[in-house]
Amino acid sequence: MKLLFNRVFDGVDEMYALAEETLNNTVADLGESAPLNMPNTGYFLANHLAYLAKKIITLGDLKAAFPEVKAWMPHGNRLADVFKSGFGTFLAAEVIEACKYVRSPEPYGTDYHGHLSDAEVRELGVPLVTGDLPGFVVIIGPAPSDKEAVELIKGYQSRAIFVFLIGGIIDQAKRMNLNMGFPVRVVPVGPDIWCVSHIISFVNRAAMIFGAVQPGDREELDQYTFQRIRAFVNAFDPVTDIVVGAGAGAIAMGFPVITNDTKDMWRVPKSLIIQENSHDFIETSLEARDIKIKVTKIDIPVAFSTAFEGEIIRRNDMQVDIDGSRMDCFELVQTRESSEIEDHSIELIGPDIDSVKPGSRFALGYIVEVAGKNMQSDFESVFERRFHNFLNCVEGVMHTGQRDLIRIRVSKTAFEAGFRAKHIGEVLYAKVKNDYESVVDKCQVKIYTIPEQLKELRVAANKVYDARDARLVSLTDENVSIFYNCILCQSFSPAHVCIVTPERLGLCGAVSWLDAKATNELDPNGPCQVVTKERVIDENVGIWEDVNEAVKQGSHGSLEQVSLYSIMQDPMTSCGCFECICGIEPMTGGVVIVNREHTGMTPLGMTFSEMASMTGGGVQTPGFMGHGKHFIASKKFMKADGGSARIVWMPKALKELVYPRLNKTAQELYGLENFTDLIADETIAEDVETLATYLSEKNHPVLSMEPLI
Ligand code: SF4
Ligand code: ZN
Repeated sequence: MKLLFNRVFDGVDEMYALAEETLNNTVADLGESAPLNMPNTGYFLANHLAYLAKKIITLGDLKAAFPEVKAWMPHGNRLADVFKSGFGTFLAAEVIEACKYVRSPEPYGTDYHGHLSDAEVRELGVPLVTGDLPGFVVIIGPAPSDKEAVELIKGYQSRAIFVFLIGGIIDQAKRMNLNMGFPVRVVPVGPDIWCVSHIISFVNRAAMIFGAVQPGDREELDQYTFQRIRAFVNAFDPVTDIVVGAGAGAIAMGFPVITNDTKDMWRVPKSLIIQENSHDFIETSLEARDIKIKVTKIDIPVAFSTAFEGEIIRRNDMQVDIDGSRMDCFELVQTRESSEIEDHSIELIGPDIDSVKPGSRFALGYIVEVAGKNMQSDFESVFERRFHNFLNCVEGVMHTGQRDLIRIRVSKTAFEAGFRAKHIGEVLYAKVKNDYESVVDKCQVKIYTIPEQLKELRVAANKVYDARDARLVSLTDENVSIFYNCILCQSFSPAHVCIVTPERLGLCGAVSWLDAKATNELDPNGPCQVVTKERVIDENVGIWEDVNEAVKQGSHGSLEQVSLYSIMQDPMTSCGCFECICGIEPMTGGVVIVNREHTGMTPLGMTFSEMASMTGGGVQTPGFMGHGKHFIASKKFMKADGGSARIVWMPKALKELVYPRLNKTAQELYGLENFTDLIADETIAEDVETLATYLSEKNHPVLSMEPLI
């Protein structure tokens, strides 16, 4: 039997030879000056950046770095040589893949996913942090049969494990009509083993974005991937030398490899595991990487998993469309006395969804009633906002919107499996009880479907929403006595702390002051702790001695001071999952804000990804700051630096989202009417000269402000 070392080195050599040939051919065809831009990333070729600290931007750069790839493939007889060679394989693989992207920005069309954008890396970061995504698997196939391929993928999906596919298993999944794509967390990366470089690129960017790992710092990088990234590999028989070579790299990163190939294969405890029965891959893998899956048992006829959160149900596939924009629909949480609630009662008042023809609109509203000694009415809206996530986890159900503008689609497949109105109640009951067990003792759900009754209930629900909004408006940083911190993202971004105040939500957009309060009361030792604000240093800039102490403690000493209302002076740090970034534009003295969804250019000459690469990792970068969308209309937005009147550019879609509240704020603070109209967007300017012209045409308030720097 060939020694494992030799299998690795043969595989490594094979990858190197292919990379060399591909590179030489590409250079011969396109020349060394051909630009090399991987799409939508600020991290160049992320594996080259992470391992070699090299920013590759042309084919010539790639060629110049190529001897170093060879140097990363030492054929010595120490384990360290094997591991290093594994990384070398990833570099060589990246060379092969990069050459495809020099020839075309979309070399894979719609067949395969290929390169992941920075936005996708960040999107994965959030659920990895919260544990909604317990880990990810790279499956290298084909599986023994199409059926087994899909069983394995679905098995991971139902455990909320993110799935990357490489090779023949992708064709198997296609033949079985499996729904694939980033939103359903099954990504067909590419047909060949060198496509693995895209996954390693994702991992390396996660380390640089969330962990602030510096390019070239291999020790930190290894530590980060080993401790923070819960990944593993499933490789189906036959495992070739080149796969073994890449596998050595995976193992070096702390990702165990599980295979059913018994020929010429060696066992390495905890790292290279032979599981002859591929039906047991899932259990063996989870055990090897020490991943524990939290399951909530819910009595519904379809699967429930965060893997289905991004699923989209199209018009032709839907059984019913519960559409709050056209009919009287709503969702509401109400606190009741314990005696008024029969725990786990799910009541349907009116006809069920099978009473209408497939594809019809349907009116439906529900009230989730809860009781508990520690329940507070402030938590009602916190629970209600989670309904969106809860219902989206149901396979074949899509939920959007909130309050009386909800929209719920139930797919024909889910309906045929037996999904009915009461199952909505089952899901809400189970999740509210499970996720909020320390405040909810009893819970019942009433589902209403009679149109006349819904009309009345909707009016009543609106009174509740209005009262809550009034309470929210009355909540300001001045009139509360405490703030909260949030360190949830530390599982990924070890030095980052958010300070959450009534007027400044967490930069992920998902944690408001009320959320933080609820989280703290649900779990006093959990990720949100009380931060007092008794010793004020500068209220205008937003500096408190107690807040500084909390930040210093929360960041394990890496931060001394933050100002909550400035982006110039000790701004709040960013972990990487910010919804938006704002950055100063020196020529106009204004700030540009860009949201994650916007992939185009900004007048700063940088895309979201490029700005993000300067902002993450829990470090303070004066002039740049990550923040939530709702913070834009806050009266505390950059208050110390001139406030929202500094905003000169935002993508159009973001403007449309924030304008009602932003206009109101600008009216109240500066007496400006329709302020959002003065802000440029990508349809007006993508470069600074055009932007400046627009601002002077509109007489934008920034023109009369002091320069920022
Ligand atoms: Fe992460 Fe901050 Fe959001 Fe908490 S509030 S989850 S630390 S981004
Ligand atoms: Zn984060």
